[in-house]
Amino acid sequence: MNLILLGPPGAGKGTQAKMLTEEFSIPQISTGDILRAAVKEGTVMGLKAKEYMNAGGLVPDAVVVGIVRDRLQEADCDNGFILDGFPRTLAQADALQSCLQSMNKELDRVISLEVNTEALVERLTGRRTCRECGRGYHVKFDASREAGVCDACGGALIQRDDDQEETIRKRLQVYADQTAPLISYYRETGVLLELDGMQPILQIQEKMLSLLKAS
Ligand code: AMP
Repeated sequence: MNLILLGPPGAGKGTQAKMLTEEFSIPQISTGDILRAAVKEGTVMGLKAKEYMNAGGLVPDAVVVGIVRDRLQEADCDNGFILDGFPRTLAQADALQSCLQSMNKELDRVISLEVNTEALVERLTGRRTCRECGRGYHVKFDASREAGVCDACGGALIQRDDDQEETIRKRLQVYADQTAPLISYYRETGVLLELDGMQPILQIQEKMLSLLKAS
């Protein structure tokens, strides 16, 4: 199953992608995670990407397209993949199309998660991640037992640099301008599934699975 999860930052793409990974035994390919790892390692690409990411902008298409093209060649993508956070521009969507064509692959479904802007700001400003094990929390909706400490491993909980309110609003604007047009792009090709991302996580998950299994 070759899937894309589409939606604004904070819509729950990462959470749903993890569930789909387990259900279908296919990898989650998050360009945001790959870029953050490059920033952490201090690679040349990471240093360049960091400036765009911290400003709430998009990393240039050529960089992310190159990352995804290489990742799709890996053996664990043979039975499918879940793209999370890619494509984010029409140029990326076109590049993905030619890349899949050259590999004799097709997109099966694009799942769009819709959430209103104010809910996204609340979700993103409260988001925290364990520095050690990467587990996610939310200060209001899914708090750790002890503030700032991971329940699972005792690691420190940190806030992503780009989860500050001003940067969040910029990222949401970038989404509206550059990524939201992909909804009609994929609707026209007949692969789009639209889901209400305001529902509880488990409800979204059930609905998504039943739609994917029925299609
Ligand atoms: P995410 O974790 O998906 O919210 O991504 C975090 C940041 O990484 C974004 O705000 C962008 O700066 C960058 N990024 C991730 N994916 C892409 C992409 N497909 N195109 C351009 N920039 C991206």
